[in-house]
Amino acid sequence: MERIRVIAFDADDTMWVNEPMFRSVKAEFMALLEKYADTGTIQERLIAVERENIGVFGYGVKGFLLSLIETAAQVSRERLSGADIQKLIGLGKEMLASPVELLDGVEPVLETLCRSYTLMIITKGDLLDQESKIARSNLAPYFDGIEILSEKDEAAYDRVLSTHGIHPREFMMVGNSLRSDVLPVVNLGGHAVHVPFATTWAHEQVAVSAMDQSMWLTLSSLGELPACLPRQEPYFGRENAMPEKMLGARPGRENPRPKQTRALARKIS
Ligand SMILES: [Mg+2]
Repeated sequence: MERIRVIAFDADDTMWVNEPMFRSVKAEFMALLEKYADTGTIQERLIAVERENIGVFGYGVKGFLLSLIETAAQVSRERLSGADIQKLIGLGKEMLASPVELLDGVEPVLETLCRSYTLMIITKGDLLDQESKIARSNLAPYFDGIEILSEKDEAAYDRVLSTHGIHPREFMMVGNSLRSDVLPVVNLGGHAVHVPFATTWAHEQVAVSAMDQSMWLTLSSLGELPACLPRQEPYFGRENAMPEKMLGARPGRENPRPKQTRALARKIS
């Protein structure tokens, strides 16, 4: 393995629990709509509506909530009551305020790795929601950079890496989604570690049978990661040792994001 300098972590279902909350709200949603249609029909419609809406509203709770309301209007044939809509909005608000539950062993792993590597968060979703979860996780001090993207595809990773002056071969992405955390990074020539979570959102599912799984490492928990990495001398005075390019955009490139994310990291640390 080449010398890895930067390790980036996905957030939802990699560092903290996310999908189970969506599943439990979906279960409440099904119960609310059972007077209009059977569970299979509602589920199928919701997946289709969410898929159509991602390009319009993006990822996250707010887009999900709008998809719930749209699905409900469709399966109820527009008989949905104001009280039902209010109930759905209440569920969305509860999701946004729910406590951040860290996955086992996350903090010790970050504590170990931040001594030898530049660490980043690369997540997608609603900006305010993700900022709030990062703040509530109390993990921000371990990270040198935070990127909240609207999509995690090859173009987005390429943009992040070039903005921060990181060569793909010195970059490793760690996450629960093959589609968003592993495949685009491997395709760019970077390293990836897949740490599957118990459940995967339908939109993130990909067929792995036809893929060369030797291109990435699969671990059963994040706690196994440090032992899989080559031994490196820890560097001291992490702030000073941080590569200059991590701290700002490349000269001449129009990209204010690093300054914003650094300010965010400072603000929430
Ligand atoms: Mg994830």
